[in-house]
Amino acid sequence: MTGIVVAIDGPAGSGKSSVSKAAARQLGYAYLDTGAAYRALAWHCLEVGVDTLDPGDISDELERFEYTIGTDPDDYYVRVGSDVITEDIREPRVTAIVSAVARVPEVRSFMVELFRGIMRGADRPGIVVEGRDITTVVAPDAPVRILLTASEEARMGRRSAELAGIDASVTAKALTDRDAQDSRVVDFMNAADGVTTIDSTDLDFDQTVTAVVGLVRSVVD
Ligand code: C5P
Repeated sequence: MTGIVVAIDGPAGSGKSSVSKAAARQLGYAYLDTGAAYRALAWHCLEVGVDTLDPGDISDELERFEYTIGTDPDDYYVRVGSDVITEDIREPRVTAIVSAVARVPEVRSFMVELFRGIMRGADRPGIVVEGRDITTVVAPDAPVRILLTASEEARMGRRSAELAGIDASVTAKALTDRDAQDSRVVDFMNAADGVTTIDSTDLDFDQTVTAVVGLVRSVVD
């Protein structure tokens, strides 16, 4: 693996995507959003009409899944085949089924290999990789491993602010349901051995980015 890998895990609404992207920018590193790949596969399954309740049908689709993602924090895009679906993968219909797609074991092993390939191909001194199983499965040997948490209340507040116009209680329920489903597959609520917890409940966005960048510099410099 080339370059410094900064592995960041955390639950939905912890701010890990925007914090990871901003930290990568400050460090001059690449940025990899792994949740986007699970979302893109879920989007693809909806497009081609795969029965997402059938794990066999989902894994059969993997050989037709042509995925590309931008790892430049200033040029982020998500593509399946020739379709640019950067925004589409955030639609509620995708969010609603992504956990079912992500719990299929064949999907998980496919994704781990995909992410490791992208990490090897990054053309920067380092890469910030964020998701749910990065510190434990995808890059357990990364020199910097972080669990980014925030209280449930703070996470729900941030997610509702992002999805303005949608009932806050609906957003809150969707978020807790998804975390509950996801944490049956991977434990991203508790830091594994050697993983540093950054709790952003009482930090604003810039303070959280500074905490991440500071930790990386203390290890790397
Ligand atoms: O991070 P984001 O909320 O976009 O992730 C979408 C979904 O992808 C999660 O709810 C989870 O089901 C799945 N995921 C995963 N492992 C990762 C990243 C995301 O299972 N490393």
